[in-house]
Amino acid sequence: MGFDRLWRGGRLATMAPDRAGLGLIEDGAVATRDGRIAWIGAVADLPRDVTADEVIELDGRLVTPGLIDCHTHLVFAGDRADEFEMRLRGETYETIAAAGGGILSTVRNTRAASQDQLVATALERLDRLMAEGVTAIEVKSGYGLNLDSELKMLRAARALGELRKVEVVTSLLAAHTVPPEYRDDRAAYVALIVDAILPAAVREGLADSVDAFCETSAFSPAEVRRVFEAARAHGLPVRLHADQRTAGGGAGLAAEFGALSADHLERTDAAGAAAMAAAGCVAVLLPGAFYALRDETAPPITLFREAGVRMAVATDCNPGSSPLTSILTALNLSVILFGLTVEEALLGVTREAARALGRFDRLGSLEVGKACDLAIWDATRPVELAYWLGRNPLRSRVFRGEMV
Ligand SMILES: [Zn+2]
Repeated sequence: MGFDRLWRGGRLATMAPDRAGLGLIEDGAVATRDGRIAWIGAVADLPRDVTADEVIELDGRLVTPGLIDCHTHLVFAGDRADEFEMRLRGETYETIAAAGGGILSTVRNTRAASQDQLVATALERLDRLMAEGVTAIEVKSGYGLNLDSELKMLRAARALGELRKVEVVTSLLAAHTVPPEYRDDRAAYVALIVDAILPAAVREGLADSVDAFCETSAFSPAEVRRVFEAARAHGLPVRLHADQRTAGGGAGLAAEFGALSADHLERTDAAGAAAMAAAGCVAVLLPGAFYALRDETAPPITLFREAGVRMAVATDCNPGSSPLTSILTALNLSVILFGLTVEEALLGVTREAARALGRFDRLGSLEVGKACDLAIWDATRPVELAYWLGRNPLRSRVFRGEMV
């Protein structure tokens, strides 16, 4: 039996759903052929005739699937450091936005930037995430808010996946906020999304899913519904920023459309959680935004557990509400601020994050046939990934069977 590469003697956290907890294999081995996992199990069970072009001794180290950041706004221009200082002085996210700052300042900067400039600044953030073992990332548009700039953002996101050894999943988030030129005619902007931006993104193969921001300061459930119906007509899955600042029935709306995920969810109620569970909609928890906005209402983790909602964890990396470029910090914040168990948090950046992206058939666990994307840690216990704040124990990252 011949493999391209074989890692042996490690503690494998497989995240495989048919194994309990993190699916640990002690003194395990994993082998790759043609970029996929070709064999995984205990060293003692390795076939006698096994050969590999390269054999790597793990010396007891922990191995997890490559981490997945399933909610980011990685592509944008400029930053919002000045606004951060205003918020420190007591102004709220909503009052800053109402005064033309906030997200609209990022929209101005992003519209003015070239695609190459967007790629260059996003790469710097992407490299930080990859240095912590990230092998797949979701990237949204949503700071262009017109045809050309939304497509420019999505092309920049696609370019990231060509320039780095990482899988990029894109989401069209034209329904992020209403741009100033449509402030007095919101319906016309929703029509622009449905009739022009979405079809163009589909034609160019730029969107893997469609996202929207359902919030009193953004889009109403009725407006989101129009966008989601258009996504459905184009055969694209949807996801939703839901119930973050106000309870607006977002979780139920996401579930109704069979969304891959509903995200934030600080103000989701029991009915919303039940609807999500029934629809198999993943709850994507974003502790970076909760922390940076000094929110005091955490997502209803107990309700999600009781209802059986799967939970993922992501950075929500964006210049306004979550300037976070560390998936390991998101892990730490999720256990400290939201009360996730270490097991829930780690499943949340692997298996459940893959489900939130609709890619669990290929990513998110160490199982034969899946992409051989690994994170090898200078650690032996899974808790060490969530324990440190600011320490990165990654030893090496493997993408499609290659050490990178
Ligand atoms: Zn977001």
